[in-house]
Amino acid sequence: MTSPPIALLAELTHRCPLACPYCSNPLDLLAREAELDTETWARVFREAAAMGVLQLHLSGGEPASRRDLEALVTSAREAGLYVNLITSGIGLTPARLQALADAGLDHVQLSLQGITAEKADRIGGYAGGFARKMTIAAEVTKIGLPLTVNAVMHRHNIDDLEATIAFAANLGARRIEVACVQFYGWALPNRAALLPSRDQVIAAKRIVDAARPAYAHRMAIDFVPPDYYADFPKACMGGWGSTGLNIAPDGKVLPCHAAATIPGLTFDSVQDRPLAEIWQHGTAFTAYRGHGWMQDPCKSCARREIDHGGCRCQAMALAADPRAADPVCRHSPARAMVDRIIAAEATAPAPAFTYRRLAPQA
Ligand code: SF4
Ligand code: SF4
Repeated sequence: MTSPPIALLAELTHRCPLACPYCSNPLDLLAREAELDTETWARVFREAAAMGVLQLHLSGGEPASRRDLEALVTSAREAGLYVNLITSGIGLTPARLQALADAGLDHVQLSLQGITAEKADRIGGYAGGFARKMTIAAEVTKIGLPLTVNAVMHRHNIDDLEATIAFAANLGARRIEVACVQFYGWALPNRAALLPSRDQVIAAKRIVDAARPAYAHRMAIDFVPPDYYADFPKACMGGWGSTGLNIAPDGKVLPCHAAATIPGLTFDSVQDRPLAEIWQHGTAFTAYRGHGWMQDPCKSCARREIDHGGCRCQAMALAADPRAADPVCRHSPARAMVDRIIAAEATAPAPAFTYRRLAPQA
């Protein structure tokens, strides 16, 4: 038996007023008609709690695009889950936020595209979004909900990192996640527009190292460096099918955000099969769980217990083989390709963003 997952990320909808060019949602976004209804999500939350899940992350798209968000929070808390809302703030109002708190919401994670209206609205592709976000940030702390600021950093805003950390502290955040953009979803076709330079990354690491002790009594600082500049990959998802799972708006259960980019995987739906059974036996989960799927260099590598071979989706995207070592790894035969990408894209003039949009419906 595989241990139960700790966390469930529920992508309630792909709808979102913003259009961030690094959005982790898939390129083929689902329309409202495909979304699970309130009752089905409530049943899934009960199933998740019964199998041992502790934390529920309500995500999207923008979860506030769901009119039943308050009911979903209520059902999640009734199931005994810790409920975190991952939001851009757009679609929330002070009254709605209070209703969510009354329903039992435990925590808010607010995205921050930039620290000025001009930059934030340009990156998010939504005029007026920054001002509305600031209203909601103030309201979160006024109500007394713990606030985490999630700042995705890339070449257009990473030079503002020091000011971004100070900005988050002034908002009253207890934690900031400084997450350098990872190249999945919409970020992959936007890579040449987003990839920071090596100098920018070195400067960012120095800023984080200096800021951590300076803010130690006010705010925790998490830092996810860009893996293209690392020598070894990150332990993606803590290991495939080991600690967390994602449910797409239509009920398909995925081991990670980008798993649908791997050809040949079949994703079970909560509409057809119990969640615990999907976790234990679903072919998408068993495909890369553990180390049996590995080939060299990972198979015989001492680090395989640490990083689990890195990211299967990145191996697919860059090496066209989901069983390959993550190409950012120094031992990977595909590492030279990552170095060529950095040389070609990181300091070249940035092309225009391809904003994340729902495809026009036929
Ligand atoms: S990353 Fe941007 S576009 Fe994607 S869901 Fe979050 S706010 Fe919306
Ligand atoms: S060879 Fe595989 S297991 Fe070893 S460090 Fe590289 S990605 Fe990790």
